[in-house]
Amino acid sequence: MSAQPPSPQVSVDVAIVGAGIVGLTLACALRDSGLKIAIIEAQPEAVAIAKGQAYALHQVARQIFSHLGVWQALYPRIQAFDQVRLSDGTYPQTVEFLTQDLGADAIGYVAEHHVLAETLRNALAHSNHIQWFCPWWVSDFQLGDKVGQLTLVPGDTSQQVAPTIMESSLVVAADGGRSPLRQTVGITTQGWPYWQSCVVATLKLARSHPAIAYERFWPTGPLGVLPLTGDRYRIVWTLPHAQAQEMLALDDAEFLEKLIPHLDPTMADVTLQGKRFLFPTRLMHTRSYWGDRLVLVGDAAHTCHPVGGQGLNLGLRDVNSLADALITAHQQGKDIGDPAVLRAYHRRRTWENWLTLAFTDLLNRLFSNQFLGLVSLRRFGLYLLQILPPLKQMSLRFMAGILFEISDQPRNMSP
Ligand SMILES: Cc1cc2nc3c(=O)[nH]c(=O)nc-3n(C[C@H](O)[C@H](O)[C@H](O)COP(=O)(O)OP(=O)(O)OC[C@H]3O[C@@H](n4cnc5c(N)ncnc54)[C@H](O)[C@@H]3O)c2cc1C
Repeated sequence: MSAQPPSPQVSVDVAIVGAGIVGLTLACALRDSGLKIAIIEAQPEAVAIAKGQAYALHQVARQIFSHLGVWQALYPRIQAFDQVRLSDGTYPQTVEFLTQDLGADAIGYVAEHHVLAETLRNALAHSNHIQWFCPWWVSDFQLGDKVGQLTLVPGDTSQQVAPTIMESSLVVAADGGRSPLRQTVGITTQGWPYWQSCVVATLKLARSHPAIAYERFWPTGPLGVLPLTGDRYRIVWTLPHAQAQEMLALDDAEFLEKLIPHLDPTMADVTLQGKRFLFPTRLMHTRSYWGDRLVLVGDAAHTCHPVGGQGLNLGLRDVNSLADALITAHQQGKDIGDPAVLRAYHRRRTWENWLTLAFTDLLNRLFSNQFLGLVSLRRFGLYLLQILPPLKQMSLRFMAGILFEISDQPRNMSP
């Protein structure tokens, strides 16, 4: 899976730029389609796998990974949680979401980046239809005759290797929120940066603790606490930029002293594991998910506030829709880069992504607010959620990405 031997000209059906979780999942979905695939990743394999992220995965992600045949390998290495507790600062009312509200064996799962990346790469290891370019990066995109033309530059500059020209019926930008490809072709975006950054850290608990996910809203921003395997928890603490910077600069003992009063009281006996990281937050949505011979998926098309852990889950649903559209077009002998195919994918994904982006934006603004009227309103909302089971079930199904499952069910992606 390392660097491809240099060849001045390569021709494929689908070139996936970016081997983050979204790009890798798309490659998995297309691996038995008969299409010739290239994966281009700028970072060396070990670096791309070792990213310290962890993701809350919802039931829709489980359905997608099951259909791709990777769930069995993934499941023993990730942490399921069967309860979510939602609360508003120090207000005593807590809304508890339980598995029976969802009718599933778990509400969700937390997977570390390296576990997901390794599992997906293993699933791709023996495919004859996949060519890897890693570490190679895309330096240019041009249009040819019914193809997109990529200029690929080797990431390892110690060897004198000339750039490669890759022609592909379709180029997929899975190259993350800053998406150099999106910028090269000039697809514009809309959105805004938030006034907050996220401090991310891993906690080790002294005693074992039930696998509960917490989302606690403080006036400064939400604090997500997600269970990991091995009695560890991942915290995603949203704070105004300056405060987040201050938290990052503290030593471990000072940081824990600030953090512990914000955690559930049962989690007081914790130590920090590894480094803390800072992520800026922004809402971004592209005006179009496609251009000539180009299509966008995952963070290249949209980013949202981390509250509720939606970003990657949306990206996986993009993959599901796009793979379905491409496999169907290919089976019908159509051009997979035809605007009609790409436009249908855009239409299918755009409204649901907008809805979720708007929902996370509303949630963050509503709860990071101390106007008396709003405080009373949201606390009344929490009360209604707790006493009205249908409302609770509907919100949980929406957050889990399965409210619309009848119209947008993961399909069997094999040909
Ligand atoms: C603090 C925080 C917490 C989050 N928590 C959750 C959560 O709990 N659940 C959830 O669903 N989502 C969560 N998200 C969102 C999630 O992290 C993203 O949605 C997800 O990582 C996007 O994956 P991706 O594959 O689209 O992009 P990326 O992970 O950014 O991958 C893009 C890849 O493209 C490569 N690349 C870039 N440019 C080039 C180029 N020119 N040539 C070749 N390769 C290139 C990069 O090296 C990279 O490997 C969170 C986000 C943050 C910031």
